[in-house]
Amino acid sequence: MNNQKNKGYKNSVNKHNRSGKQNKKQHNKRGNQADAKHNRKHKKVNAPQRGQKIATAKVTCSGLTSEGKGIAQWDGKRLEVADLLPGETAEIIVSKKGQYVNGDLKKVITPSKDRVTPPCPYYYECGGCQIQHMSDQAQARFKEETVASLMKPFGKPEPIFTMDHPYDYRNKNNLTYGMNKDRQIIGGLYAQNSHEIIPIDKCLIHDPKADEIAKTIQGLMKSFKMQPYNEDTGRGFLRHVLIKVGKFSGEIMVVLVAASSVFKGKNNFVKALRKAHPEISTLLHNVNTRSDSMVLGNEEKVLFGKGTITDTLCGMEFEISAKSFYQINPVQTEKLYSKAIEMADLTGEETVIDAYCGTGTIGLVASQKAGKVIGVELNNDAVKDAIRNSKRNGVKNARFYQGDAGEFMVQMAGRGEKADVVILDPPRSGSDEAFLSSVAKLKPKRVVYVSCNPETQARDLKYLDKNGYKVEEIQPVDMFPQTNHVESVVKLVRK
Ligand code: SAH
Repeated sequence: MNNQKNKGYKNSVNKHNRSGKQNKKQHNKRGNQADAKHNRKHKKVNAPQRGQKIATAKVTCSGLTSEGKGIAQWDGKRLEVADLLPGETAEIIVSKKGQYVNGDLKKVITPSKDRVTPPCPYYYECGGCQIQHMSDQAQARFKEETVASLMKPFGKPEPIFTMDHPYDYRNKNNLTYGMNKDRQIIGGLYAQNSHEIIPIDKCLIHDPKADEIAKTIQGLMKSFKMQPYNEDTGRGFLRHVLIKVGKFSGEIMVVLVAASSVFKGKNNFVKALRKAHPEISTLLHNVNTRSDSMVLGNEEKVLFGKGTITDTLCGMEFEISAKSFYQINPVQTEKLYSKAIEMADLTGEETVIDAYCGTGTIGLVASQKAGKVIGVELNNDAVKDAIRNSKRNGVKNARFYQGDAGEFMVQMAGRGEKADVVILDPPRSGSDEAFLSSVAKLKPKRVVYVSCNPETQARDLKYLDKNGYKVEEIQPVDMFPQTNHVESVVKLVRK
């Protein structure tokens, strides 16, 4: 669910095409002008990742993949071309690496009416977003059709819940610092499949305040002679900044992720940052000496404030720590949770299982309308957060357990326990047979399946469909506008 880690696909073909300035001029406004402008910007093939260029070809796009790439045929092969839209005729560069043949967009010849100028000047470089070249309506249609085609055996989805202002939505923002060739400090986002930093001033899906603070830190680094960490040499101090924003509470957490626990000039740095941004509620120093791509290390020091922030979701308060999982788009999360709880059809009597419950958010919101909630979650820290959140909100009818959801359900079924409603929200890989077969044994009246990956959801629905459940409602939700991700919540009832 952490969308930042799914840093898109397109950048792999675009590393040589970093004419940001030129981009900015051409792509400064979102519009639906299907004109020649779109043809000026196209990606160049990244030789190491794409292999040998073998041809330039003219193709017509026949549809979209579930990742939002254009499907085209070349020499009897099916190519998936990023940023190409259905119906468009385009010139592509065909390259080959090993047995893989890739197509990269060179020039759109007949632009689709769905094509818009990506509003972000970094779109073609940064991998964070994949579908900014589609109009809002086309994005919605793409996501609806993706869900509809996967759900075909079970029914027709409702129209997708879109976001009125599909920008600035992330409450969790992570930027990385480094040095460019001219030895200037830069801050930005990683390129796809790479640790190359794309310098950015503003990310259109980040919280705007977060980018402002990140920029201030970049400036302070220079005046405090604080070196960014260099992954190759292992030298330097600051690696990332993680900024979490309580969209409702307005509280802001800033985590300085450094390679060392020794923070030279700490007091003055903190003072200067707080002076520039008095709105920061809490500041932390996280020590990350890891060599993998995890943002946070284990050691954490609170430099000021409580070390956590709180936010309100569906009328309940949640405490958010640097490490805890919290849905990143609160506006859409409220719509998603409200729909899931509506589908659960609660009267106040039911025993509800909240499986894969994370920090307990869905279960706690549901507890207000249920007899009893049982939450199960693999991550022990998340379970602790869930218990804390439950106390914080005075919830008396929810219990949270640490464990594998499948095993937990097998044990429940073994003990002959009953549940009226099962809500599940598994990770992208979906659920498993242990879990689903126990659902069939426990025989809840309703199952509400929340998923950030409709592909694995459709697989699991097939199992439930064969084992006593009927899909009654399918609701796609756009949790991550501008990206190719889509969330889907499905109501099943016992046949
Ligand atoms: N429902 C929560 C979290 C959903 S993310 C929310 O909306 O905030 C999916 C969660 O499933 C993660 O917290 C992850 O730690 C947990 N998880 C992954 N595999 C699991 C398993 N086998 N059993 C139980 N929980 C699991």
